[in-house]
Amino acid sequence: MQDLLKRDKTYLWHPYTQMLTAPAPLPIVKAKGVYLYTEDGREILDGISSWWVNIHGHSHPKLNEALANQANKLEHVLFAGCTHPPAVELAEKLIPLLPKGISRVFYSDNGSTAVEVALKMALQYWQNQGQHNRKLFIALHYAYHGDTVGSMSPSEESVFTASFQSLLFPVIRADAPYCYRCPLGLDPKTCKIDCLSSLANLLETKAKEVAGVLIEPMLQGAGGMIVWPKEFLEGVRKLCDKYNVLMIADEVFTGFGRTGKMFACEHADISPDIICLSKGLTAGYLPLAITATKESIYQAFLSEDRRKTFFHGHSYTANPLGCAVAIASLEIFQTENVLEKIAVLENILVNRLNPLKNLPFVGEVRVIGGVGILELVTNKENRDTGGYLSTIGPKLAAKFLTEGLLIRPLGNIVYFMPPYVITPEQTNLALDKIAKIITDLEKI
Ligand code: PMP
Repeated sequence: MQDLLKRDKTYLWHPYTQMLTAPAPLPIVKAKGVYLYTEDGREILDGISSWWVNIHGHSHPKLNEALANQANKLEHVLFAGCTHPPAVELAEKLIPLLPKGISRVFYSDNGSTAVEVALKMALQYWQNQGQHNRKLFIALHYAYHGDTVGSMSPSEESVFTASFQSLLFPVIRADAPYCYRCPLGLDPKTCKIDCLSSLANLLETKAKEVAGVLIEPMLQGAGGMIVWPKEFLEGVRKLCDKYNVLMIADEVFTGFGRTGKMFACEHADISPDIICLSKGLTAGYLPLAITATKESIYQAFLSEDRRKTFFHGHSYTANPLGCAVAIASLEIFQTENVLEKIAVLENILVNRLNPLKNLPFVGEVRVIGGVGILELVTNKENRDTGGYLSTIGPKLAAKFLTEGLLIRPLGNIVYFMPPYVITPEQTNLALDKIAKIITDLEKI
């Protein structure tokens, strides 16, 4: 192991971990189901689904088989001017599962590109119809949409984006329904989703300049694991209809069951105009993404005028290996009752995490689908997170690791999001450990 880590240290540059105090990376040599195995034989439960991508567990036999079979037929071919069975079959199988009305699939290769494609698609859609004034995008506070320049722009300003401000295009920002920290200071029990007024006001004054409203439906991820009331999502759809702007749902994280429904938009029974998918699309196997939209948007690009063409295409667009695994993943959803498994997991998360609300540092417990969230605060009255908690994330991650759990808190937000194949016994065991560590938080 020392050798692997030494060579890693000599040659590699990992994401987000240049702090001199950052621990050495985990040398993972094997994975199966919910477990990762280190070179020195440690078994570690993947409590964050390898950055939210893994859904059916690591090294699933059916996914392995689909990958091997496809590799033996066609590993890759360009997708401009060519097509292949996995790309077509995946679109055929996916479209009936997508929110109603979404019927055209555009492939790319990661979550950030899925979002960039959506933004470019929306902008050009209006241009192709002569509406050149519609250049603005509305995004929400606490948003996170990726790390490329285009997807960083709608993301909330943070330490992640600070160095790159000069490269980012301006967006206008509306309130998010972060009920624990209500932007209007209201009580969620009696509020009438009043925070929607922020988006409504922006649209009232700017709608004719707006190309689209970009949101992470039901669960804003990297910005703090914020769970929405479904009425907010309903309200966004209504406002986009009222003001005739495109609604873009970034379901890169929430798609494929993570919030308990196949797609988070189902919670409010709404359809966006454009939906972005990645992560769980290939069950955590390969980088692949989809930006899918309605026929009317696709039609706006069909023309003999070349300026109306959508000029976006990556070398690995619609990679057949990724598509083949994604098809097999959709089959697993059917054959292994995956949504029912997520419901069981959700139930355990609710029952086990809710009592932790009584702990001195736990400000709020949030659960949606297969994601359990604890928001830690230093002061329950004013919900302050400063002082002791400002450096708690890495310390907690290290502590979890000593207990065989891979969990990476987002600062004061601790979340547990295992692959859906986790058994109730494994879930309970992990939650025992989490509860003990959070109970003894002051000792860390
Ligand atoms: N959108 C959302 C909602 C995400 O959570 C993420 C990644 N965490 C992205 C986009 C970017 O995806 P990727 O890391 O694959 O570029």
